[in-house]
Parts: sequence; structure tokens; C-alpha cells
Amino acid sequence: MVYLPDGEKILRKLSVGLVQTNDAMEKDGFLKYPYSKNLQRAINYLSFFYLMNDLPIPIGIGELIEKAKTVPLGEWGLNLSDDEYQNELLLDDEGVPTELCEELAAEELDYNNPDSFQREIFESIKNLAEGSKDPDITYTQIREFLVKYPLSTQDERSDILLDVDVKKPNTFKELILDEVYQDKIPSAYYVNGMILRCDFCGNLIKNQKNNLTCINKGCEFNRLSNSKKQKKYQELNPGQEVRQAHFGVRRYMSIPGIPELKLKDDLEKIGCKVTLWPGLDLCDLFVETPSDFKISIDVKDWKYPHELAKNVNQKVIPREELENQGFISGLYCYVFPDIRKKENPDYMNAFKSACNPKVEAFYAKDIIAKIKEIWS
Ligand SMILES: [Zn+2]
Repeated sequence: MVYLPDGEKILRKLSVGLVQTNDAMEKDGFLKYPYSKNLQRAINYLSFFYLMNDLPIPIGIGELIEKAKTVPLGEWGLNLSDDEYQNELLLDDEGVPTELCEELAAEELDYNNPDSFQREIFESIKNLAEGSKDPDITYTQIREFLVKYPLSTQDERSDILLDVDVKKPNTFKELILDEVYQDKIPSAYYVNGMILRCDFCGNLIKNQKNNLTCINKGCEFNRLSNSKKQKKYQELNPGQEVRQAHFGVRRYMSIPGIPELKLKDDLEKIGCKVTLWPGLDLCDLFVETPSDFKISIDVKDWKYPHELAKNVNQKVIPREELENQGFISGLYCYVFPDIRKKENPDYMNAFKSACNPKVEAFYAKDIIAKIKEIWS
């Protein structure tokens, strides 16, 4: 009996392959062969699926990429049960993975996957933190650095090396900094000889068809009009040894950390005490309100609520581990950035109805209002 994955599984494998192919291209500044092995494998699955279902088989990678750019997923014949992305594409017209493509790939590429590069980095950070005087502080220092510096200069890397509280700074340098920051910025991405770093998220800004674009697709920068973009970045001289963090770290560790740090700031402004990544990342935030009510929060910044629900459904809330480490809370909830509600008023509803078992969730604005009203 031949194993035939279902349409959705093929779609996820395809997304992983497209994301990895684009990553390789960004590193070099151009597309080169061979493409990601995962992409080739996904095309094989897709061809087999089409063969078994009497559909025309795509010929090769070129045709597949064209399809990903132009044909909405509803027309791929994949028998998708979820209509959330029927009208969506996997690649934009430049061939860059869409947010949907990145979210479909998340399960395989985020740092929960034991085989991913980012998992290795995550484990190295944990090991290093566990061997230090105050593991939670060390862990937070390193994670915060990765969130704030998806692009870093030699000076910034030297500063964290001096600041970080670890017994063996050299291990930190070799196993984390040198591993994460290997990629130079291809000169094709310089703008007037300089490397542009986004003020909102710290990622690289590229000139795409005379339009400045942050490579973090969902970034606030990309929602600004052209005239407003002018002062919203920093110019770095390539001579400062600028390095970009590894794609997986950037996409699945740094970018999700941005709304986490923002929520921490907003909660501290209303008098809460906030611990980031308690118990070495059992959840994102542990919050103690002014009236001493305690809340454990996971911040999720996904565009597609059903995709997020599928991701959440596979995870068990680590209540017991949190409690064993002294993080006992009266509420465990998910928090979404307010922009998700603005983009899609039905977001919360769509998320909650796809969650099994039921979970608590709020927009950032609403959890803050609730704390002020009830737990201050
Ligand atoms: Zn940005």
C-alpha cells in the first residue's frame, strides 16, 4: 500500500519547501540550484496526489512556482477542508512566501520541532542559562537580544557578550552568536550603499521595485505610505560587520517576540510585574497585577485564526510545570495584537470556534482593560 498524504499535509510540505528556497535565495541574493530538498520532495508528493486523483501533473519547479504565485489555493484540487485560505496564494508576485505560506510552514520550522536549527539554538540557550547564577535572567537576556537584533553589528554582538550573565562567555559566542549570525547581507540589498534596519522590528529593509519593504511581511513598516517610510529605519554601514540572524531564528523566534515585549511594556505601565519566558520559556509572560492576581500569557501573532487554532490544538498548556516552578496563575490565556481585530473583526470568533479544548483568549487592548477594571 502506497502512503498518500492528504492535500493539507502536502500543502504544508510545499510551504516548508518554498520558505526554505526563498531563504536560500535571500542569503545569496539570487536563486540558485539545487532548490530545497523539501521542495523537491513536496513536488513529488503533489505529482503523485494529482496522478491518483486524475489531475494534470505539474512538470517541474518553475511551473510549480508560477502556480504558487498566481493560482488561489481553492483551485489546486487538494480537497482542503478549511476554507480559510481558499482565495489565498503561497507566493507574492516577487516569489516571496506570503504570510499564509509562512504560517503553514510554522509547525515544521518553529523551535518546537526537534529537528530544526532554531531548536538547537533554543536548547543551547537553555543549557547555558541553566548553568548560570540566575537561569531566568540569563535566558531572558539572550532571548531579548535575539528579538531586538535580527540584524546586528559587530559592536552590538560584542556588547551582549560583555553584558550577558554566563559562566562561559566563549561558549555563548561560539554556540549561539557565531551560529545565529552567519549571514552577510548581499550587496544587492544595499540602498545607496547602506544597509537599512527597520525601526519597528529590526529586520532588513529592501528596495523592491522602488518601494522600501521590510522583509518581515506583517511589519507595521509595510503598512506606511511611501512618504512616511523615510524616517522609520536606521542606516548601517556595511563596514560594521552587519550580520543577519539565521532565517528560522528570525522568523520563528525574533518576530514572535516583538508583540511579547510590547505587551510586557504595556502591562508594566499599568503597574503589573511581568516575568518574560518564565521557567525558561514555559509560556511567554507571567503577570502579577497590582491586586496580586496572576496570569500566564502566550502571545500569538498569526494572520490566519484557523491555522493558529490548529497550532494551539497540538499543544498542551504546561500548567503543572509552571506551578512546579512557582508560577501559579488564576488564568492562562492567549493574547493577540490589536491589529488582528482591525484586519479581521471575526478573528476571535474564528479562533475560538476552531479550538479544542476551549481556551481563553483576548486582544491586547482588552486584557489590559480587564486588568485595570477587575484586578488593579
Ligand atoms: Zn519591520
